[in-house]
Amino acid sequence: MIDCHTHMPGGLGFLAATSFTARDQLAFMDRHGIDVSVVLTHTGLLFPSPAENDAMAGYVAADPARLIGFATVDPRRADAAEELERCVRERGLRGLKLHPWLQGFCVHDPFMDPVCEAAARLGVPILFHDGTPPYSLALQIAVLARRHPSVRMVLGHGGLHDAWREALVALETTPNLWTCLCGIPPYAAAHVICNGPLERIVVGTDAGLADAAGQPYAAARIAEWGRLDVTAGQREAILVDNPRRLLGLPRT
Ligand SMILES: [Zn+2]
Repeated sequence: MIDCHTHMPGGLGFLAATSFTARDQLAFMDRHGIDVSVVLTHTGLLFPSPAENDAMAGYVAADPARLIGFATVDPRRADAAEELERCVRERGLRGLKLHPWLQGFCVHDPFMDPVCEAAARLGVPILFHDGTPPYSLALQIAVLARRHPSVRMVLGHGGLHDAWREALVALETTPNLWTCLCGIPPYAAAHVICNGPLERIVVGTDAGLADAAGQPYAAARIAEWGRLDVTAGQREAILVDNPRRLLGLPRT
């Protein structure tokens, strides 16, 4: 199984996690049958910097075959595209995470174009936080995806509780838009899997936002995947085949 949404520990305030290590994450993955995890920054969303991207490269170096790190940038900066390129070509990071709500930018600002063009050149996906107004809604991200049709853009939460129906419509109408079901209710996840474009649906836990080595909320989400009212083929697609295609990993 592949978990397409986890976080490198860090952050601030009530979501600060500092004692969960890469070794803990690998043990968590072993416990739950997760082969590969996509790791996103948390601190870097609050304070994006090359140093945070380098910290990500160091974190996933604990097991580069199983931990796939994504970079982040402040897209307003003139050197944002260059930093993404550095992270991918020199530090081995394999995607970009952006959180328009937390990072406080609108995806339709012109500074997004060079960043998306860099992702297109590098062939890496962009995973967005979504499900939260005013800047992180599925249809807003879908419009950006249509401007950059060769970039795989991922709704990192599938619309969360309130906007999953909108996320489903956005998916159906935007061929390069993917969704990562993470934090949406199980009945909604099953509906999206059974009615949406199955080949562009993956799942994630958001593990790494708590100190506890067991990451109980993430373990609960993995248990939910096993109980979803979907077929074995659909489950295999979202847990194994689709994430491999999204991330450019060889088929096993
Ligand atoms: Zn997250």
